[in-house]
Amino acid sequence: MIISVASGKGGTGKTTIAVNLALTLSLDQGNNVHFLDCDVEEPNAHLFLKPLIDKRDSVKIPIPKIDYKKCNFCGKCGQACVFNAIAVTKNKVLVFPELCHGCGACTYVCPEKAIIEEGREVGILEEGKSGSISFLGGRLNIGEVMAPPIINVIKKKGIKRYKTRVDADKEIERQHILLIDAPPGTSCPVIESIKDSDYTVLVTEPTPFGLHDLVLAVEVLEKLQIPHGVVLNKCDIGDHKVEEYCKKNNIPILLSLPLDKEIAIAYSKGKPLIDLNSAYKQKFVELFQNIDKELKIIYDRS
Ligand code: SF4
Ligand code: SF4
Repeated sequence: MIISVASGKGGTGKTTIAVNLALTLSLDQGNNVHFLDCDVEEPNAHLFLKPLIDKRDSVKIPIPKIDYKKCNFCGKCGQACVFNAIAVTKNKVLVFPELCHGCGACTYVCPEKAIIEEGREVGILEEGKSGSISFLGGRLNIGEVMAPPIINVIKKKGIKRYKTRVDADKEIERQHILLIDAPPGTSCPVIESIKDSDYTVLVTEPTPFGLHDLVLAVEVLEKLQIPHGVVLNKCDIGDHKVEEYCKKNNIPILLSLPLDKEIAIAYSKGKPLIDLNSAYKQKFVELFQNIDKELKIIYDRS
């Protein structure tokens, strides 16, 4: 089962939900949990999971380098680049690496085969273990804006490993769960993070901003046809409009968490919520039961 945890806006408690769900499923329920931190612009799941990182790899994207022995300055590469990352003058081809998405279109269209691709590091990939949870995460280099290539590497590696383990354990009862902590928002990095999910948990708050960004996130999930439910964080602030919206649109509220000073203190110390008291642990057990129940209803219908 692949579950992603996302939110229309930042600061809703998305990572809190993702890490506490991972720890509950691993420690309390005895599942094999694979955790992917795809929030590569601001990764912080490691602050709570405290994984022992045993491998770091550079993530590079291919950017064009011109072979001036072959180039005839025809300009086709510049016309093909929708990101304005390459421009051709009378006797020079200018490449702007920070704008390049490494899509390869310029190399493809060059009639003289005058473009060689060379790797440019945009971030790193980290692999490790947090107890029995296998951890994969990434980090965008400072000043870089291209998160999707790093997310893509995390996803490919994480899903391959997860599927291999699922196949190997087919005969035994133990369940494998892949949990993805997606970046906030609704842009390309989010789509890249959640696109293979069986289910997405949307974390929000009962405020006008929370509702506005939840509606946008739901639109994305509906387009991607990914089943989804809501976690209402700080449920005792704001108004009831998020609940009314969910009810009207048949979106289940899977879990509600109060605004609690104890939670904020634990968060600031990098302490998981489930360590505070057994009632919180039980809430995360119920969160998973609700997701499981929702998926069973969907499978039964199809
Ligand atoms: S398409 Fe190739 S030959 Fe034409 S300007 Fe670009 S690099 Fe040079
Ligand atoms: S690889 Fe793609 S983004 Fe980069 S310069 Fe070539 S066409 Fe533009």
